[in-house]
Amino acid sequence: MSMTFKPILEREGKRPILIAGPCSAESEEQVMQTARELADAKQIDVFRAGIWKPRTRPGEFEGVGAIGLPWLKRVKQETGLKVTTEVGNKDHVFEALKAGIDILWIGARTTVNPFSIQEVADALKGVDIPVIVKNPVNPDLKLWMGGIERIYKAGITRIAAIHRGFSFHGDTKYRNVPHWQIAIDLKRNFPDLEIICDNSHICGRRDILQDVAQKAMDLNFDGLMTEVHPDPDKAWSDAAQQITPAQYTAMIKSMTFPAADAEVPSSVEGISHLRGDIDEIDQELINLLSRRMKIAEKIGEYKKANNLPVLQTTRWNEILGKSVEIGSKKGLSEEFVTVVLKAIHDESINHQIRIMHGE
Ligand code: PEP
Ligand code: MN
Repeated sequence: MSMTFKPILEREGKRPILIAGPCSAESEEQVMQTARELADAKQIDVFRAGIWKPRTRPGEFEGVGAIGLPWLKRVKQETGLKVTTEVGNKDHVFEALKAGIDILWIGARTTVNPFSIQEVADALKGVDIPVIVKNPVNPDLKLWMGGIERIYKAGITRIAAIHRGFSFHGDTKYRNVPHWQIAIDLKRNFPDLEIICDNSHICGRRDILQDVAQKAMDLNFDGLMTEVHPDPDKAWSDAAQQITPAQYTAMIKSMTFPAADAEVPSSVEGISHLRGDIDEIDQELINLLSRRMKIAEKIGEYKKANNLPVLQTTRWNEILGKSVEIGSKKGLSEEFVTVVLKAIHDESINHQIRIMHGE
């Protein structure tokens, strides 16, 4: 499906789209105070606040509902900011449109469900409004693309994606692991689609918010969505990841934003020979990997002749442990060495299985 996306906002040059506001609208005062402080700092373009909150378990605060919509209207009138809220079904869409919400966002728990996102798409037929689509909770690029396609097919062309990270079972410093490559792959598939990083839901905590925001900007993302609350510790949802308007403004001011959108041509002096070196090393890596697979195949022949299993866990642990140790001495993180070696090991196993069963 060939699609042409339009920007969700008019903006000058390469300025990032900055969206901020509380996780949830809690009261008119809380909404107005956050919006006024953010508007006074003159950084943001769009004010966010969740009116309907999709909570993981029942019994948690599920949003104030439609009574919060006039509060957002007041934000528009008094601050001139655009406003956005999450919609998860057709009733939300109708209520939000009626209230004059400028931009709709689709949450991770809606993108994950084709029935739900289709219901939202159907409710949007014939409406011209920007829609931003968060990634699904699970790391599935196609599901994210599918959600965007459903909205596009409803006739919406001002669409952006929001990268908010993915659920993960296990130890991680993030609330939702970023898997940056998935967002990069989305960009490869949809080159003119704007991508905004929701650093709040990736981090789930305040201390790494700026690092993640900066990484997104270094990866040439188009903007940020960040949760901001006048009294973060007392927030009714997502307290641990929210920051005050003043902290938000300080964060934005101390970040560096790329000035230009251009790809750096390889002919530029100061970069051309470095890129030449990189190309050579990449070729060498491919050659080495190919040699490694040929040797793995020979081992596969031995295992076949002796009726041995392909996977040898002790040996694999040894390889991994040794490489992580050497890597750390050479400035490579454990995470990186592990990911690379696991990919190599997977490929070796596939080569050996082919030898054993002759596929
Ligand atoms: C939110 O933005 O507050 C929210 C519920 O986010 P997500 O859909 O990313 O979980
Ligand atoms: Mn939230």
